[in-house]
Amino acid sequence: MPVLSRLCARLPLIGRRLGRSPAQTARPTTPAAVVHSGPTLIGEDLLRSFGSGSTRTHALREVSVELHQGEMNLLMGPSGSGKSTLLAVLSGLLRPDGGAVKALGRDVWAMSDPDMERFRLRHCSYIFQGYNLFPALTARQQLEVILRWGEGVSGSVARKRADHVLGQLGLAGRADLRPAQLSGGEKQRVAIARALVKNPSFVFADEPTSALDWENGQQVMNLLQESARERGATVLVVTHDHRLERYADRVFHMADGALKSAVAATHLHHAAVDDDTGFHPAFSVAGPRLRLADPTAAAG
Ligand code: ADP
Ligand code: MG
Repeated sequence: MPVLSRLCARLPLIGRRLGRSPAQTARPTTPAAVVHSGPTLIGEDLLRSFGSGSTRTHALREVSVELHQGEMNLLMGPSGSGKSTLLAVLSGLLRPDGGAVKALGRDVWAMSDPDMERFRLRHCSYIFQGYNLFPALTARQQLEVILRWGEGVSGSVARKRADHVLGQLGLAGRADLRPAQLSGGEKQRVAIARALVKNPSFVFADEPTSALDWENGQQVMNLLQESARERGATVLVVTHDHRLERYADRVFHMADGALKSAVAATHLHHAAVDDDTGFHPAFSVAGPRLRLADPTAAAG
């Protein structure tokens, strides 16, 4: 920690904002639904606690973060460090006690409930550990429902788009099967297909690979990476699996409710993670893209 403390002392105002990676500027992507310059998702001084009195837990202590279009972001850290809480707050699922979330230039938590609902439906996709597929629907129908209800597209267009995405995910031959007839890996891929079929601006995934073997996990990460790179989505994935860092444009580390570091992929691919700290060595190098979210929280 001394390096960190020195850095904080010297740069008291460092990093309420996190910079863009060179990968992003080099990447002309098929834009997601909305083209937006600057960060597409901003969390400002986010606070969230649970419980009260002696059982009060501070899950988020003034977390600030910026995410960009076309980037694959990993959020890592030990169990209980606040990853899921941060993902839920940023994704419009859990109201913070303080701070703000700006998505595509809109103040998410200032929206009315119906506006928020519309915004999530239009722009956000969620992937969680369970597959949450409808048991009665075929793989194709799981996707068609999203398009017909979410976007109001016609039956034939919905079918075309659903089949296209299923094909991209290697599920063309499984389109008419129901969840009970699919393997675990196939179900996960259908869940991903359902998340991507509407071309979301944001993809939020909480431990999407934790129930999968390594091979299926890699496939899921490839698809999420593609949704960022080729579809221009802003992707945020919570994981504690360091092997997944290779898919990231940027890796954020949380500890005890605070964001401790953000490392761009250019640093990541050149060195291994320190097993003792769980942090990447680049963390201790004051490189141009290293930003600390909150110097005061880092000290406490
Ligand atoms: P992570 O995803 O990194 O494991 P979480 O964001 O789930 O961490 O949790 C952060 C802290 O907040 C933990 O101490 C957890 O016990 C607490 N917490 C999270 N959700 C709740 C909740 N609904 N009720 C009470 N405490 C919670
Ligand atoms: Mg969690």
